[in-house]
Amino acid sequence: MKFSGNVLLPACLIILVLSSCEKKQTGGDYPIKPVPFTEVKLTDDFWAPRIKKNATVTIPIAFSYCESTGRVRNFEIAGGLDTGRFVGSYPFDDSDVFKIIEGASYSLQTFPDHQLERYLDTLIYKIGLAQEDDGYLYTNRTIAEMHGGKGLHPWASPERWELDSILSHELYNLGHLYEAAAAHFQATGKRTLLDIALKSANLVNKDFGWDRVRVYPGHQVIEMGLVKLYRVTGERKYLDLAKFFLDIRENGSQYNQAHKKVTEQDEAVGHSVRATYMYSGMADIAAIENDESYLNAITKIWEDITFRKMYITGGIGATGGNEGFAEPYNLPNMSAYCETCASIGDIFLNHRLFLLHGEAKYIDILEKTLYNSALSGVSLSADRFFYPNPLESEGQHQRQAWFGCACCPSNVARFVPAIPGYIYAVDGKDIYINLYMSNESELTTTNGKVRIIQEAGFPWEGDVELSVFPEKSGKFILKTRIPGWALNEAIPGDLYKFIDKDTAAFTIKVNGEQADYEVKNGYAFIERRWEKGDKIELQFPMNIRKIIADERVKADDGKMAIQRGPVIYCAEWPDNPGGRILNLLVNKDAEMTSFFADSLLGGIELIKTTGSGTRKTLDGKIELLPEQQVILIPYALWNNRGPGQMKVWIPYKKENTRPLPAPTIAFGSTIKASRMTRDITSINDQAEPENSNDHSITYFHWWPDRDQWHWIQYDFNKPARISKAKVYWFDDRPDGGCRTPDEWELLYLSGNIWKPVRARKEYTITKDGWDSVLFSPVVTSSLKMKVRLNKDFSAVLYEWIVE
Ligand SMILES: [Zn+2]
Repeated sequence: MKFSGNVLLPACLIILVLSSCEKKQTGGDYPIKPVPFTEVKLTDDFWAPRIKKNATVTIPIAFSYCESTGRVRNFEIAGGLDTGRFVGSYPFDDSDVFKIIEGASYSLQTFPDHQLERYLDTLIYKIGLAQEDDGYLYTNRTIAEMHGGKGLHPWASPERWELDSILSHELYNLGHLYEAAAAHFQATGKRTLLDIALKSANLVNKDFGWDRVRVYPGHQVIEMGLVKLYRVTGERKYLDLAKFFLDIRENGSQYNQAHKKVTEQDEAVGHSVRATYMYSGMADIAAIENDESYLNAITKIWEDITFRKMYITGGIGATGGNEGFAEPYNLPNMSAYCETCASIGDIFLNHRLFLLHGEAKYIDILEKTLYNSALSGVSLSADRFFYPNPLESEGQHQRQAWFGCACCPSNVARFVPAIPGYIYAVDGKDIYINLYMSNESELTTTNGKVRIIQEAGFPWEGDVELSVFPEKSGKFILKTRIPGWALNEAIPGDLYKFIDKDTAAFTIKVNGEQADYEVKNGYAFIERRWEKGDKIELQFPMNIRKIIADERVKADDGKMAIQRGPVIYCAEWPDNPGGRILNLLVNKDAEMTSFFADSLLGGIELIKTTGSGTRKTLDGKIELLPEQQVILIPYALWNNRGPGQMKVWIPYKKENTRPLPAPTIAFGSTIKASRMTRDITSINDQAEPENSNDHSITYFHWWPDRDQWHWIQYDFNKPARISKAKVYWFDDRPDGGCRTPDEWELLYLSGNIWKPVRARKEYTITKDGWDSVLFSPVVTSSLKMKVRLNKDFSAVLYEWIVE
């Protein structure tokens, strides 16, 4: 987060930097300066309550999980305050503590809290004790060395740093330490954590270099952290070290963006959190060093993400296997990964690109991500978190209180307090207004201070009133962002488009009169001599918009998404008859209306329309059920009323719905199995996979069992005459742990005895297709399938049909 760095620059230095370089030319630092969140006091009723809850709920519970899971104890043991072995599963657990300290430091500036400050003092004291004499800080190794090397995490090697480019996360932890240290120093003026960070950074600087240890960080973030230390201290060595850690990447894996030199990269690949942190670090260097090669690379990468790899919610990272980017246009909805951390990382990147270029398209993405995929990461109660943020659910997704790998909650803790820092920016004497949320702020420009009072109805109403109070009146440009969605653009680029053109236009008035302005780079430039109390009134159209995706996005074929203002909507189970969402269809031209429901989900604008459910018939067709009301709620607020069905993309073609199952023998059965799981009904839901590695529908599994027999059984609702069955197996080779089974057979209940059916030929075992078995007809009340799991792999079943 860039703003915290800026706060640390003395005012005279800011002026010096600004006057010594020409406008828009990089060199020294970002040409556009963010207005730190500490200068922005939110007065709205959407974000301000959330930021308060982050302070009163998220940060305290995050620290308490760090205590109860041993994350704090690791520092105590490493520091000699306690004894024992390293607690926890991951060597990067230290980083959570640092991230929450960063969040708490930001939070303290809005909500002074002596108790919290004292708690931080104690925690920092323990971190200091855990730091080795030469500056090394990594509790897992320090504790292991107390036990003769026993307990060293398998991801770390006996030599320091050696495995960092693989998985040790030594530099990852430190990156978060440096960010926390800069934030804590800024918040409290205390050097305690900063001194620990500098001692560590000096060791890293001593150990690493072109003629010393040449290992690149396996999980990027230290680059941004070092830039912050550079800004705090003015010491160039930290900047050079950040650049070293970027330039040394090559001949590694795509997973962590080390497959080529960073300056030669032009596509977003691999783990999406690592990626966005690295691209953000590159933006910092590009700004400070005026480095065109970095700039060119991240510009191309930004286009690749935005034009080909972004969800309509702003989420990125489509696949869980690599927690990252998939091929262009491969954007499945139910299995969408969209990690909360990746949304936050992409906001870091887009903010930085705005500070470099002053173009509104970056804030369009920032706003989209903020209101949708990032906000979805935390519950209304602020104590439950999503790691992935899918766009469709059968009910298998639910926010959790904490995770073994707790990167997402700790990222939320530090991101939320800083949100007001994205509203304004200053370029010399000119002012950028990027986001609309009510606040009172004081901006420092080269023409003196300017107080701004903003009253905005966002995100529900499109009216904004800005009162400007320059310390001394003078001529400058107020650059107020016209959101892309108010200019008929669903997203920068062509990945998503509004179905209809909205003819309603935005309006801008100054002191009650139509304003003179020019739209440049997505901003209305209002240039005039500004006097104290001048008033700007903006009105943005808040019509309900229907969106379709590029036809190459197969997952969104025949479907539309709904947006109003910056908010993307979804249909969720509690608002719709029977809780059924996945079989819903809404006509493309359906009329939609919105109204404010003040008692629902903290007060939201609801969208109401009509549609129909769909159902499969026994002859395999899809029929429409009677017309029904359909309610849509803001996507980010789903799953605050328990798990259930949800979808963002609403089909307008019945083939693209998930119809209710036909009343088949299997569908009418009760299912029993050697292992009962919540997903057991996926075997008779008539959802058919595309292939054996299709993650877009649910399946039933015996994971992690292998090398043994299991069974599953249908009890029919009345005895039936059957003579055919077919099954579809899951198989996630080469990487996964599941394969088609070694053997399977069917038995039917005859009286009290299970007898094998008389199959007409041998059982087949197929990947990417059905295995059918025809047998001599039997009349029975129950059919059982026995399955022999592979010696080394588990088995998973998509569907089991009986006729
Ligand atoms: Zn995460």
